Amino acid sequence: MAIRPMVYEPDPVLRTRAQEVDDFGDEFQVLVDDMFETMYANKGCGLAAPQIGISLRASVIDLSEQSQNPFVIVNPKIIERRGEHKMDAGCLSVPGAYAAVLRSQWVKVQALDRLGKPFEVEGDGLLAECLQHEIDHLDGLLFIDHLQPLKKKMVQGKSRKFRKKNKL
Ligand SMILES: [Zn+2]
Repeated sequence: MAIRPMVYEPDPVLRTRAQEVDDFGDEFQVLVDDMFETMYANKGCGLAAPQIGISLRASVIDLSEQSQNPFVIVNPKIIERRGEHKMDAGCLSVPGAYAAVLRSQWVKVQALDRLGKPFEVEGDGLLAECLQHEIDHLDGLLFIDHLQPLKKKMVQGKSRKFRKKNKL
């Protein structure tokens, strides 16, 4: 396993619709392990392949406190959504800046696991926010794209300052 370098906004790979995964062989298994390691190293609760420069439709998620509930969503689709709520969002690709984003309050997602087996995951609150955030990444969208233009500029500016200061 290896920690891979992160890519940051405005890298074009973050703005590209990622390709469906159709090969679940060794190379993909290594990628998934590396995504987990990279996510934990950066203290994130979700990481999409484009965030390490790989344009594939796969995201890893772990919302537990002690890294004990990892799962992967491959080629995910939101098949049901309900309600709306605003929740504070941040992103490893836009570090050092946060903003409230309007999201569906509850979602149901159909996806494949790391071996290509279909499963469903549903939830509200943080899980719903995280699923929508990670699926957005696979469509080339960032949380800042859900903000008003002025607010978006502010958040981008704040993150660029943060990266300069921290040499990211
Ligand atoms: Zn993100």
